[in-house]
Amino acid sequence: MRKFTLAVFLFVALFSVISVAKPYTLVPWPYGVIALVQTPSINQQQFIDDATQAVKDVFSFWDLPAPVPDPDWATPTQTSSQAWWNMAMQNPELLFAEGENPFLSPMQLAFGTAFPGDDPGHLMVVPYPVWSGWKIMPLTLGVFPSSESMNNLVEDYTFSALFGSVAGYTTMRSEETWTEDEREILHLFWHASSIVMSTEADKQSLSHELSHWAAWLWCQEHAVQLFSLPRTIIEGFADYTAGSLTHDNRWRTVAASWAQGGNLTDIPRPLIYDVGTSIISLLVQEKGRKGLLEMLADPTVDWNEIISSLTPAWRESLADVKISEGDTAMYKAVLQDLALCWRLLAPVLPQEADNILNRLYDGRGTTEDIDHFWDLVSQVPPEPPEEIWQAMIARIPSFLITQSRDTDPDIRMVRARLEIKLDKYGEERDWKSFYPTFIEALRKVIAHYGTQETIDDAN
Ligand SMILES: [Zn+2]
Repeated sequence: MRKFTLAVFLFVALFSVISVAKPYTLVPWPYGVIALVQTPSINQQQFIDDATQAVKDVFSFWDLPAPVPDPDWATPTQTSSQAWWNMAMQNPELLFAEGENPFLSPMQLAFGTAFPGDDPGHLMVVPYPVWSGWKIMPLTLGVFPSSESMNNLVEDYTFSALFGSVAGYTTMRSEETWTEDEREILHLFWHASSIVMSTEADKQSLSHELSHWAAWLWCQEHAVQLFSLPRTIIEGFADYTAGSLTHDNRWRTVAASWAQGGNLTDIPRPLIYDVGTSIISLLVQEKGRKGLLEMLADPTVDWNEIISSLTPAWRESLADVKISEGDTAMYKAVLQDLALCWRLLAPVLPQEADNILNRLYDGRGTTEDIDHFWDLVSQVPPEPPEEIWQAMIARIPSFLITQSRDTDPDIRMVRARLEIKLDKYGEERDWKSFYPTFIEALRKVIAHYGTQETIDDAN
């Protein structure tokens, strides 16, 4: 794994030698580099101040030391790409050497991590922040002008912000179709120490992603792979942190609604975040924040065992949550993953459907609103212009991505069958067939937990 990372890291450095104009601007910040992709309209200084504060808040929430910026973070060394490359090549033994530092290889420690410089012949060597006594990889924080541009680039509309390398699932699928610009942007986020988000993301989602970073550093230091833990724990940790910092406890109503009949061994995909938060909250109550961190760093912990044995205490912890009609409607909206349906329909979504979703997620909606939403979006909109067509077609892979995270085995074939149809109708630009199939895929692949009865009735 480390060898692969290194090879990629050298490749990125080499790649920047041959590139010309850049579709982004790199701005140093205390913890690494902010990549402003395609010129988003933000107040740079304000953004850096807020993000810096968010890092401090997240780490201090867990009583972890915050990473310490290098004194020279604001003035990264500009070096000739050729000189840097020659230097690295003169020490090939470092390429595969193993060192003590759990975050950086001997090669990286010796020569620094290079980002594309001001012009094609230069590289920018960003100084390493120090965390818990170790030099660590700088955090690359990418900001896109819109979520459409961000999701479109990686052909994945299932997220609003992301921590971790975008390489994994993106390269396989679309490498051949990338333009030069797209390739350059994606290479900025090759390393796990990356966050991508858009200007539409709120404070809470930045805190959520930064919590992943904190958990990743903590686990990595203790030789545990964060992403080998159950998603309930990973996402629960991040949402619990972000929710606590912003005093948002909507997860309580969602988790309590699930606790009325459901259990912890078979959590529907759309409830992973909220129910995961309730699990982390309970573990913190039982063991304290430090105790929870120790569990995360302990490779002998059997998480499946822990989670299933927690069920009675978990149910008890949510028993006194009062659930209003608006809460029930919000729960059903979450269960149907209407937020994801919204993202997938965004280019053609009627304003009224948008209003309904806002109402539902604010806890002001009713169960009838959900039916009304589906009625509205089931009406085939007029044939769209080519630009919208492309935005809709780019969404097709998101059905597979969502299904791959789903524990319900039945939807695999359903998804495969609908995907073939969508590809065909999309290619033929047959809107009257494409759109209803798209809605069918939304209901059966994305929203199936809440609409099972409806589907059975319809069949
Ligand atoms: Zn997350």
